[in-house]
Amino acid sequence: EVRVRFAPSPTGEIHLGGLRTALYNYLFARANNGTFILRIEDTDQTRLQKGTQEKITDILKWVGITIDEGLYYCFTRLQKGTQEKITDILKWVGITIDEGPDNPGDYGPYIQRKKAYRCFCSERRLKMLKKEALLQGETPKYDNNCRHLNDEEIEKKLENNAPFAIRFKLDDFTETWPDLVYGPISYNTATIEGDPVILKSDGFPTYHFANVVDDHFMRITHVLRGQEWLVSTTKHILMYNAFDWSPPQFAHLPLLLGKGNKKLSKRQGDFRIQNFKDHTYFPETILNLLTENGSGFKVKNIVGMNMKELIDNFDLSAMNRHSSHLNVERAMDINKVHLIRKLSDARQRDVMVQQFLEIYQKEHVIKSTSMIEPSTEYVMHVLEEMALEDLLKDEYEYLWSAPDVIALPEHTDKDLALSIIRHVIALFRKSGRVVEKAVTDDIKEICEKNDILYAICMKVLRRCLTPTQKGPSIGEIVATLGRNTTLQRLEHALK
Ligand code: GLU
Repeated sequence: EVRVRFAPSPTGEIHLGGLRTALYNYLFARANNGTFILRIEDTDQTRLQKGTQEKITDILKWVGITIDEGLYYCFTRLQKGTQEKITDILKWVGITIDEGPDNPGDYGPYIQRKKAYRCFCSERRLKMLKKEALLQGETPKYDNNCRHLNDEEIEKKLENNAPFAIRFKLDDFTETWPDLVYGPISYNTATIEGDPVILKSDGFPTYHFANVVDDHFMRITHVLRGQEWLVSTTKHILMYNAFDWSPPQFAHLPLLLGKGNKKLSKRQGDFRIQNFKDHTYFPETILNLLTENGSGFKVKNIVGMNMKELIDNFDLSAMNRHSSHLNVERAMDINKVHLIRKLSDARQRDVMVQQFLEIYQKEHVIKSTSMIEPSTEYVMHVLEEMALEDLLKDEYEYLWSAPDVIALPEHTDKDLALSIIRHVIALFRKSGRVVEKAVTDDIKEICEKNDILYAICMKVLRRCLTPTQKGPSIGEIVATLGRNTTLQRLEHALK
């Protein structure tokens, strides 16, 4: 049974790079009838950011990734002390041990094998080491000093309550391991790093340790994660070996680069998933953006595919090793492909027309400045698309095209028409009410006061506001166009 996990640290919003990792894990799980697990890796207590977790689950849900198991947190059982003296006590009170170091069963190890040790080095010493190395032009590396303390020295330090961390004895890695994407890897971490800390002096495990322990106990079968973790994997495999556990299979995903070949960071605004969501992009667009260059599919072109189709076409062995580029500029084009696809479905089409009109309306009412926000621009784009597809018909044409030449309704006195327009302009200049009902009421009132026939007034306004003579009521048109556009069109009619 395949079990995979997405294991973000809750240190900020999920960005496109993180989402890509989640997505490939999800595709792999679904393509193999496996289980997708969300595990929050909160080992670094100093970098936690509140609310991140909710944001992560929201985004996953939005793009259509369902979590089979979660939320889990990092493995806290590890904080407890050693169990050395326990056996004595047990024996003394008469509890017999069925499996233990002396009579092992199938689930060992039953004895500590000194694969790790206490490190009493002070922050200061570690800093000095670092500084010295840098001065020598070398990469800083812990000198494994405390590996060599004898029992007596350790006992003494413990008696003095000296704080300590636990470090893992990082041995030379002499074999290779098969990465499902990068092939056989032999990378001897011990030549580059000193013994890594696995439990910090605050009692919390570090990422490397918690990650291995969690993956084991959660019975993770495959680890799909960003290529930046590849160098850590030998370290992880050594830890699995130390526990006598068999490691999961690893598949590292090629680097995902943004603008100017830079690594994606949480700070690059363009890459905020929330931005896409706010600007009414379809989640499928994001899925395509993330996989477009990344490969891993039976077919070359995946643009236009939805989640189900991506799953059906997923093939880990088709994953390539080149770093892939995230081309956010493509978002609009990809979105269009999905838009046209959705428009061909009658049910989806109706929902969408309603949705976009609502967004359009809201944007105009809320933003009374004339500045066109990207989202408005996008909605306009979508509406125009719909019109081209002949879905909005004439009745919504007024949204993007104003009448060029204003022809007054037949038998209408020009002066009367001008005075109607002036009255209505005055009304909208002073009143902020551009809600459908209020617009109608206000116009009615003007008509009564000035002895103007309501029907004539409406006809004149329609000529000023829309290029066609059919369509929704004047109240609805004004409410949708918003105050500024309405005023602009009326003022244009005066010219
Ligand atoms: N917590 C790690 C991260 O934030 C997870 C790495 C892994 O998948 O092992 O990327």
